[in-house]
Amino acid sequence: MSDAKTQKAKKDAPTDRVLVVEDSAAILNLIAANIEEITEARVIKAKSLADARVLLDRWRDRITLAVLDLNLGDAPDGEIVALVRARHIPVIVLTGTMSGAMRERVMRMNVVDYVYKRNANEISYVASLARRILANRGQKVLVVDDTASFRGYLAHLLKVHRYRVIEADGAIAALDILEAHPDIRLVITDYNMPDMDGMELVCRIREKRDRTRLAIIGVSGDTDASLTPRMLKAGANDFLHKPFQAEEFYCRITQNMDTLDYVRVIRDAAQTDFLTGLHNRNYLFEHVGRLFNNAQRGHIEMTVAMLDIDHFKQINDTRGHAVGDLALKAVARALKAEARDGDLLARVGGEEFCVVGVNVGDVDAMFERYRHAVERTRVSTDEGEFHVTISIGICQQPQDSFDAMLATADAALYVAKHGGRNRYVIADLETLDSEAQPAA
Ligand code: GH3
Ligand code: MG
Ligand code: MG
Repeated sequence: MSDAKTQKAKKDAPTDRVLVVEDSAAILNLIAANIEEITEARVIKAKSLADARVLLDRWRDRITLAVLDLNLGDAPDGEIVALVRARHIPVIVLTGTMSGAMRERVMRMNVVDYVYKRNANEISYVASLARRILANRGQKVLVVDDTASFRGYLAHLLKVHRYRVIEADGAIAALDILEAHPDIRLVITDYNMPDMDGMELVCRIREKRDRTRLAIIGVSGDTDASLTPRMLKAGANDFLHKPFQAEEFYCRITQNMDTLDYVRVIRDAAQTDFLTGLHNRNYLFEHVGRLFNNAQRGHIEMTVAMLDIDHFKQINDTRGHAVGDLALKAVARALKAEARDGDLLARVGGEEFCVVGVNVGDVDAMFERYRHAVERTRVSTDEGEFHVTISIGICQQPQDSFDAMLATADAALYVAKHGGRNRYVIADLETLDSEAQPAA
């Protein structure tokens, strides 16, 4: 999905509302502030069961999650939990202390988890748990176990946390499902299964998916103490011994999903250009391989273009580096607005961009559009507006490697610069060879 589409999807997504019911104003406000700081959700606050009842009626099925104090002035014994669970809203329970009997009762009502509210750390844990639950909608988890009842139990626990659960009754089925659903991010697998054991399954999965993109948690009732290290070394991210408490299960799942998310954020940052927000060179080289292979097999036609801002050094020299940065951002925005879905656009150097087009068709029309889009863009500064232009070199002919195509595009760019700039040149391999190869 292009970034513009992601933005739009975000805008169209319904707002998540989190109901927080807590009789201490200080804690109520602290939790609300924490949640609003780290999620996009809006918090609805109530101080009593009576208040909560009114809000539940007003917002009906538009509340995504509730954070509920077990001990309220008008509901001292956790009555609020049953009221909210009856509406099928996931619930995080807040408590000062809790007896064993109360824990049993609360967990039986299928709450997300309970959190003690003794210090700021625990309050911020409520917010991160809320973020997790909000983010879980639509996240696919694969549960692999040959025992239907245990599979069902895990699926039930996961659904309370809003995961979308897919079940497999054996390892072979699991491998097929993973193939069909590349967006599965978590696999929970039994060890003892008739068709293939959990260890073998982990090894097979790891041939294709690494542990920073897909988490695997092993589960077994086996008492063999060497099983845990063996599963972990085979590539599992975590391991749980049966029987376990629901809370422990939830903690492990949440931690593993949070870790995958952190890695994703870091990876995105490492592949994004800080100044313009475009993809950077790393991203381009990581993603172009598959396109190039498809092009070599004849499945697609690939066009590689180098785009370079004209006389950019002069802009820096006369208007200053900060204005130069503004110009770079303006050009990036114009190029991005022109890019079609499926094309790769990246900032690959100071004032150099690369476009890898797929099945472009009319190459002249496409790059004339890019050229024109930049030319008509105004760069606004405190001292007024100005325009910039770009020159473009294009390689249309298939070559042995992406690097070779890039070098050809670069050579065509050189011709465009010498031809007067603000123009595109499509490489003609024969003339380029004789006229315009950059000095070796
Ligand atoms: P040509 O038309 O031949 O491309 O000339 P040019 O001046 O654009 O090319 P040259 O390669 O001589 O200069 C590029 C300049 O871009 C030099 C460098 O200081 C500047 N530059 C590189 N990265 C950045 C950046 O992030 N911000 C700013 N403001 N300038 C940058
Ligand atoms: Mg330049
Ligand atoms: Mg340059």
